[in-house]
Amino acid sequence: MNRGGDGPTVDAVLIAEPRNSEHVDLNGFMEGVKRRNPGQPEFVQAVQEVAEDIFEFIADKEQYHRWQILRRIAEPDRVVSFRVCWEDDNHNIRVQRGYRVQNNNAIGPYKGGIRFHPSVNESILKFLAFEQTFKNALTGLPMGGGKGGANFNPKGKSDGEIMRFCQSFMTELYRHIGADVDVPAGDIGVGSREIGYMFGQYKRITNSFEGVLTGKGMEYGGSLIRTEATGYGAVYFLENMLRTKGLDLAGKTAVISGSGNVATHAAEKINQLGGKVLTLSDSEGFVHDPEGITQEKIEWVKTHKTRRRGRISQYAEEYRSATFHAGKRPWGVPCDVALPCATQNELLGEDARTLVANGCIGISEGANMPTDLEGVHVFRDARILYAPGKASNAGGVAVSGLEMSQNSARISWKEDQLQQLLRDIMDGIHQRCLEYGEESGGHIDYVKGANIAGFKKVADAMLAFGVV
Ligand code: GLU
Repeated sequence: MNRGGDGPTVDAVLIAEPRNSEHVDLNGFMEGVKRRNPGQPEFVQAVQEVAEDIFEFIADKEQYHRWQILRRIAEPDRVVSFRVCWEDDNHNIRVQRGYRVQNNNAIGPYKGGIRFHPSVNESILKFLAFEQTFKNALTGLPMGGGKGGANFNPKGKSDGEIMRFCQSFMTELYRHIGADVDVPAGDIGVGSREIGYMFGQYKRITNSFEGVLTGKGMEYGGSLIRTEATGYGAVYFLENMLRTKGLDLAGKTAVISGSGNVATHAAEKINQLGGKVLTLSDSEGFVHDPEGITQEKIEWVKTHKTRRRGRISQYAEEYRSATFHAGKRPWGVPCDVALPCATQNELLGEDARTLVANGCIGISEGANMPTDLEGVHVFRDARILYAPGKASNAGGVAVSGLEMSQNSARISWKEDQLQQLLRDIMDGIHQRCLEYGEESGGHIDYVKGANIAGFKKVADAMLAFGVV
């Protein structure tokens, strides 16, 4: 009998009637996922986190079992991997591995960022592409899920090296993407400079000017507020969650990890809404500023980190009210709300227990899967306000979707229109989470709500297409 294994067995092929009416359970399904994806723990983790909710949801919905929908979403449409050669400033020939994972295009062209980081491998990109599929569905915009990247470390590289790497990467990637096929954007290690180099190379190779990437510069088809969107959106989502309890951000203390685009814009919005930001971090440690990381200090961080490519430790030299904690993450600092905005698995079960014990009432994830499975269970069991990244960090890709619309129509919307659209989209995501995540006693399980709402949209489109 075919139990979600490696294709039909001989007798399943010979017998026309479906044999899977006796459904495989969650454990059996996860065993299959682990067997088919050896050495890919991040991917298995992302699938497990979703499957836990979906199995409950589809228990009485025969069509999703019959058509093996979750099994199909958890198998990328394709994984492309390629060699990326480039020459460094000392004339050494360097070889990196590039990827594009096209997970699912049931509701729109593949869409998702490109990550340049030494940790990039197939497992990480498959988990990100899988998450992106649900996140993009939640936005309500017509975007499928994908992700790409390379195990290239941009740290310490010259501008010329970055340009040559981006051009070489695009020289292979261009054949797999397109405005109606797959639209990459930025992620860790890929910002407006890298998007510029990649767009330039795509345009040069294909001789076509199209909305093939998002996060572009304003001069050549970019959208206003794309830079701010992920961080702002994560705070809007937090605000929406607090509102269900009659609370707001005024006077609340916030612990934030990361110090890149997402973290600094989340910090900015927290300040604008009357909250106080206590921490920021990078891979070397975190800074704790009990007097608050104000807008002026955030501007310093933006310049220092992006333009000067400095380290967050220097914040404590610049601002004497702050202390630097080497090799540590900020979750032990007591706070009202926390926003993990750095990277995957940066908040573990133990950290989650500390946050809950210290009275934290709301978590909004700006990064993708920053909380490990144990931590997710701690937050869910504590029944605090906990937003998974696929809901709370969707503002970035949502404005990417708006950039695609503007490119297709060859127009540019004004800032206030875009700000309003971002707000509306985050409200819409919150609403979708309520629809499927409300439990007895009025508690809202946002993980469950996001997983089911994202799944349902993609699944119903897949049902319409038959077996493809
Ligand atoms: N990398 C971002 C994310 O994780 C943005 C993707 C995009 O704009 O396509 O959602």
